[in-house]
Amino acid sequence: HATKRTMADHLRKYETLFTLTPQRMRMIVEAFKDSLELGLEKPEQIVPMVPTFVFGWPTGKELGDYLALDLGGTNLRVCLVTLQGDGKFEITQSKHRLTEEQKHDDGQKLFDFCAECLKTFIDTTLRDDKGIHLTDGKKLPLGFTFSYPCSQDKIDHGVLIRWTKGFGAANTEGNDVAAMFRKSLEKYELPVTLEALINDTTGTLLASHYVNPETKIACIFGTGCNAAYMEHVKDIPKMAKYKIDEKADIAINCEWGAFDSFEHEHLPRTKYDIIVDETSNKPNEQAFEKLISGRYLGEILRLVICELIDEGVLFLGQNTYKLESPYVFETAFLSLMESDPTDELLMIIGIFSHFFAVETTLAERQFFRALAKLIGKRAARLSACGIASIVSRMGYLDEGCSVGADGSLYNKYPKFADRIHEGLVDIFGEKGRNIITHHAEDGSGVGSAIIAAMTKVRK
Ligand code: ADP
Repeated sequence: HATKRTMADHLRKYETLFTLTPQRMRMIVEAFKDSLELGLEKPEQIVPMVPTFVFGWPTGKELGDYLALDLGGTNLRVCLVTLQGDGKFEITQSKHRLTEEQKHDDGQKLFDFCAECLKTFIDTTLRDDKGIHLTDGKKLPLGFTFSYPCSQDKIDHGVLIRWTKGFGAANTEGNDVAAMFRKSLEKYELPVTLEALINDTTGTLLASHYVNPETKIACIFGTGCNAAYMEHVKDIPKMAKYKIDEKADIAINCEWGAFDSFEHEHLPRTKYDIIVDETSNKPNEQAFEKLISGRYLGEILRLVICELIDEGVLFLGQNTYKLESPYVFETAFLSLMESDPTDELLMIIGIFSHFFAVETTLAERQFFRALAKLIGKRAARLSACGIASIVSRMGYLDEGCSVGADGSLYNKYPKFADRIHEGLVDIFGEKGRNIITHHAEDGSGVGSAIIAAMTKVRK
């Protein structure tokens, strides 16, 4: 076969598909800014721009003991956060794994379980080690990080719009989850006051700012992808009805994973992205998130591999059935492939033989690594577009700002942060260097505590 295409030839095709030019990035930023604007103007827009009722930044002088409860995707975390001022804090925590049954059983039972875990934490950890004496009716303030879309019109209240991330507990959607949780707190007679209901991006925003006051924006790059930032109340037309002081600032939970959903006009979707979308449980939704978050990157790479298997390019004569089930190729594998330090790419040999029972040639392994890089780089550069749209909207470019970031993709994917920074330079030129992302340590726990502290002061 004199004309047989090499793996390097195939790679060129995918490079064209997955590469984002600076010019294309700037076009995305412009469309993104319009979407943010629209979300602030009217309710129920594609990017919802949810007001969080967290007003302004912490002073850094917030002090004292606060409880935080974090109901995330997989775990329930209970934390005691001691705010020490000057951006310092201490944290003690316990983790409880949630069963599939708990996620789908009755909602009140789920909150009862949260209260039960809190009770165990208070009865053991707190009384033993911390010398906190809850006598004489003293109550500990608590912030509840509940990262599912809620509509709020005050900080200690929130109606669950819909469950996400695989949750489906009955009798919860459409109800005030804060009220449901208070009921459980009463049932277990806990000496706790629920001060605030918070989304994890908002928690990360406030926690990052507490530690580093240059922080203006926070992002999560985990199973999902989202951002929060501080907006001027006067620039949020849809909040006019609340008659809030025009000089105030309020944290906005962008829910930006939804950018370009339904329209599909602005993002460079490949046919693999379209398959991911159409076979997902929510087609057309979360269009931006589907090109970026940890939940999807492995699947995008798997779809390219499957195409090349079908074309007879890869694994000829081998049984490839293990690669053919959706979502078997984890995003963590992309991280591992990109960080393989050996010339022979031994890590990649291991992934394919151990998990998928197929043998690979060196040329194929180099191709897989290059493909992972294309997909990971595109995700980071699109993330840069999102960050740039907020930076540009708020005018942060000249003075510069810090962006607190969290989630496994940001924390573990090699060069993810560097690629965001390169993307910002491609969008803004040299001034892009004024925007720096940093890892936000334990944003959801500490953020909850800080917001509970700020809420208590306001009362
Ligand atoms: P969550 O967003 O659910 O709170 P994480 O921030 O840990 O939790 O994100 C989990 C996501 O990160 C999963 O989609 C997983 O595929 C992805 N992930 C886990 N480990 C890695 C890794 N080493 N590199 C890249 N992605 C990873």
